[in-house]
Amino acid sequence: YDDRDGWIWVDGTMVPWRDAKVHVLTHAMHYASSVFEGERCYDGTIFKSRAHSQRLIASAAAIDIPLQYSVDQIEAAKTATLEKNGLTDAYVRPVVWRGSGPDMGVASARNPVHMAIAVWEWGAYYGDAKFKGAKLDISAWKRPSPETIPCHAKASGLYMICTMSKHAAEAKGCSDALMFDYRGYVAEATGANVFFVKDGKVHTPTPDCFLNGLTRQTVIGMLKDRGVEVIERHIMPDEMESFEQCWLTGTAAEVTPVGQIGDYNFEVGALTRTIAEDYEKLVRGKL
Ligand code: PMP
Repeated sequence: YDDRDGWIWVDGTMVPWRDAKVHVLTHAMHYASSVFEGERCYDGTIFKSRAHSQRLIASAAAIDIPLQYSVDQIEAAKTATLEKNGLTDAYVRPVVWRGSGPDMGVASARNPVHMAIAVWEWGAYYGDAKFKGAKLDISAWKRPSPETIPCHAKASGLYMICTMSKHAAEAKGCSDALMFDYRGYVAEATGANVFFVKDGKVHTPTPDCFLNGLTRQTVIGMLKDRGVEVIERHIMPDEMESFEQCWLTGTAAEVTPVGQIGDYNFEVGALTRTIAEDYEKLVRGKL
């Protein structure tokens, strides 16, 4: 995956894909001083591009990384990277990190801040689950409290437990894991937000200790436009027994139906299908 053709934008320069490397003493690798974005470009337009760039800057600020680029500069860099790679339908991955420098311990203020943007073709995140409904495990790891970590930043450090949860889920034949939060409420999947349907109403966890995804916000807007009531609240795991439908939202996941979480089963119902189809149209400017 590192030895392939293509171009990656690194600190303002287009670097051949296979040469886009970092030193082993990169601060981010030792201490997780890194934030990133995940975006999708559809028919040549990145969906919610500026909002992603704003979130990248906010994530960096949240973990004390001064990013020297403005939204406009990040926008221009993303466009240039897509063009250089000749891609109009692609996943876009900007990443910001503290590099190697005089600070070799926990502090990193004297180390340079780097930014890179890679783009690649990436199909459905959950493969054919998009049609039949994904099967989710329940993670042993809990989303941490806002007093533990800047939980609204898209920061690499927050993903350690996501990767561990996802590995455990895949080992059991599941596509992903649902994570509860530090209080025991339903939170989110390892890279996507979660929605439930009951009696024609939609219930989704209040994003008070996890990422309030841009897709989540978009889908809430779409549901309200359709006159569907959306209730953001704390959800106890045993409530899943009574929920009829479930789906995940995320830039990579888009709107993916869920068929099973642990022992709870859901139908891939009409509302789930409608919202998934609406989202597909919306991102291509056809809604
Ligand atoms: N939660 C986590 C942990 C994620 O990684 C993502 C993907 N960025 C999301 C939620 C969904 O966010 P978005 O809709 O902005 O992609």
